[in-house]
Amino acid sequence: MKCIVESRKFRLWIEGAEILKGVDFCAPRNSISVIVGPSGSGKSTFLKSINRIIEIHGSIRRDGDILLDGVSVYSLDPVEVRRRVAMVFQIPNPFPHLSIFENVALPARVNGVAKNKSELNELVRWALEKAMLWDEVRDRLDKKPGVLSGGQKQRLCLARALAMKPEVLLLDEPTANIDVINAKKIEESLRELKNEVTIILVTHNPNQALRIGDFVNVMYDGRIIESGPVREIVFRARNEIALKLLSEGW
Ligand code: ADP
Ligand code: MG
Repeated sequence: MKCIVESRKFRLWIEGAEILKGVDFCAPRNSISVIVGPSGSGKSTFLKSINRIIEIHGSIRRDGDILLDGVSVYSLDPVEVRRRVAMVFQIPNPFPHLSIFENVALPARVNGVAKNKSELNELVRWALEKAMLWDEVRDRLDKKPGVLSGGQKQRLCLARALAMKPEVLLLDEPTANIDVINAKKIEESLRELKNEVTIILVTHNPNQALRIGDFVNVMYDGRIIESGPVREIVFRARNEIALKLLSEGW
């Protein structure tokens, strides 16, 4: 199976503490790979290692590698990596002082995704439609995101990530802080998006993993201890810890 993101024995130390202890991972192209596991097991750290946002936080040391389409992300320009691998965080973080339109347009413009005004308008509309937000904001694109609900803000962040036309989309518990209706919209959007972008989703919700995941990876204490097609893993977890986590929730 061809992996668009692949890690091999990836280890990471933050301020001298070993957080990731040899992560083997593969995200097949145009699929949704879910990462589950208890709090503190290293899920967010691993996502941030894929697009190198982890380096913004401070002093890290690593061993092993993470490949993006066969090339080490650590051999590429980090700015290019973050354009090709976009991220949506747990707490919706739109730019508060920019309009709804500019929230989506700015990263696209900065990264040169749209060449002129009409391309940019098209792109913003496309991204908002994909994030299932267009109908709710089309009449107030000039307003600040403060007028939106938490769930709408998160869909705006999804649109902002999509407007960069990334190859990979990382989502770190994107529905943990929003209501069920908004969470469903995001799930529906992701299901459709996987035809255009490879998705890696961290979730705390086993049902969400079942509903939208193609592959599941169980992370525990800095390693992925079980991985495979969702149904196979959920119903026949081989590893005892994985089985416990999956049956008792995480
Ligand atoms: P998860 O997302 O699975 O809950 P995290 O990746 O956030 O786990 O954290 C994994 C471990 O790394 C935790 O023990 C956490 O305290 C530690 N950690 C995360 N970020 C930092 C940091 N910037 N500095 C020091 N330790 C960190
Ligand atoms: Mg986390």
